[in-house]
Amino acid sequence: MRQLSPSGRRLRDVPKLVTALLIAFGIGGAPWAAAQDLPALGGDVGGGLTAAEEVRIGKQFLEQARKQLEFVEDPEVLEYVRSVGYRITAQTGFRAYPFHFYVVKDPSLNAFAVPGGHIFLHSGLVEEADSAGELAGVLAHEVAHITQRHMARQVSAGRQTQVSTLLLVAAGILAGIGGQGEAAQGLITGAGAYGQQQMLAYSRSYEREADRLGLEYLTRSGFDPQGLVDFLKKLQRWSDLQGRAPPPFLSTHPLTGNRIADVQNRAAELRQQGDTPLGEETFRRVQVRLEATTSGSPAKTYQRFRDRLAEDPDNEALRYGLAMSARRTGRTEEAISRMESLVSDFPETVTYRSTLAELYLDARRTEEAVSEYRAALERHPGRAELREHLGQALLAQGKAEEARKILLDVTRDYPQRPSAHRALARAYTHLDLPIQAHRTEAEARWLEGERAAAVEQLELAQRLAKEKGSPQLGQIQARLKEIRP
Ligand SMILES: [Zn+2]
Repeated sequence: MRQLSPSGRRLRDVPKLVTALLIAFGIGGAPWAAAQDLPALGGDVGGGLTAAEEVRIGKQFLEQARKQLEFVEDPEVLEYVRSVGYRITAQTGFRAYPFHFYVVKDPSLNAFAVPGGHIFLHSGLVEEADSAGELAGVLAHEVAHITQRHMARQVSAGRQTQVSTLLLVAAGILAGIGGQGEAAQGLITGAGAYGQQQMLAYSRSYEREADRLGLEYLTRSGFDPQGLVDFLKKLQRWSDLQGRAPPPFLSTHPLTGNRIADVQNRAAELRQQGDTPLGEETFRRVQVRLEATTSGSPAKTYQRFRDRLAEDPDNEALRYGLAMSARRTGRTEEAISRMESLVSDFPETVTYRSTLAELYLDARRTEEAVSEYRAALERHPGRAELREHLGQALLAQGKAEEARKILLDVTRDYPQRPSAHRALARAYTHLDLPIQAHRTEAEARWLEGERAAAVEQLELAQRLAKEKGSPQLGQIQARLKEIRP
């Protein structure tokens, strides 16, 4: 059975985290007095906060979250969650700031939204959802909290110093104490005079609004509105089970009064248009991939997939899950043969081909890896991660010049991918072009938020350029000027 309460590790980190957030904002002991005096920017104001302030809070939050939480980085999982998310946000008409979606590696049933457009799903929630519609329902509900600026409005309703209070609320959520009401309130009371009982939980009327709007977003983006109803019912069932802590989701999004009945009635009036976008099959694949790659015990997960597949031998998602967990438990040959059989049964599913290619690379079968990546790219031309991996496979094959060309194109088309810059830097190293290698590695570091390391790389490039009288010197110095603190 899944563990629903958050781990003690993060609870103990709460004071540290709050301090870090407050220091990050320069708040310390003094209230953020200036916040209320700042002029509002345009009409996009939630409570007393401007959009710019929300974005700033979101950024600080994310910086801390990256240190405190473990994120799922699996590209297939992220791409799916983001595709669903952006499909929904496209229906909102909200333009104050862009949305960002993340999956946190945590088995509990939880999701939350942070000012500035950051929406987080726990991996446990993705795994427990029974349909693509349920997952989309949760995302649509969270998106609605953002578009209505609920957290900012709720905090400002308490007439407290808004930015610092909001940070405390955000810290409370980040610490995973949503499921631990007393601890959460202790934190808030202890940290200052912000004794708002309900600070961590959205009010009843905000929940109603998020449900109502969420259902509309869901329907307009083509998902079944029933998804949200099903998810709420699932939460209800979990919390009715005796002797269990309720899912953390319920502490921040309380299931009060007739909420489920209201959502049910409203969903019945709306109707899904067409098939589920992005498909239930894709969703199942993402679920098993998540389970196979993030579960606590790889050996047990492998056995579990074996058992489930024995009962349902034609289940495509389970075949994929077993291959992935075979890989994770070091059974590379088994994983390869399982993926080869999936690719031969489903030649158009690009994910299977790219997974197989990765496995060939693991096994140093670089030629086969290259040809799988090429086959995948024929079906999905232009896809960044496939081109990047093809470049890496070519490098492994010793074809550095061809790799350089491909990777250079990827960094031009997608300048925000640190991994592509890093792979390109390796290609330059192979080609014995150390100045370009350091310059490119600097960009990778810069994109990863490591300014000092980026500067160091550029200084290495600068020294070499001076020694060799390279014409790149001017560009290197200009870049150094831009990023030096
Ligand atoms: Zn809610």
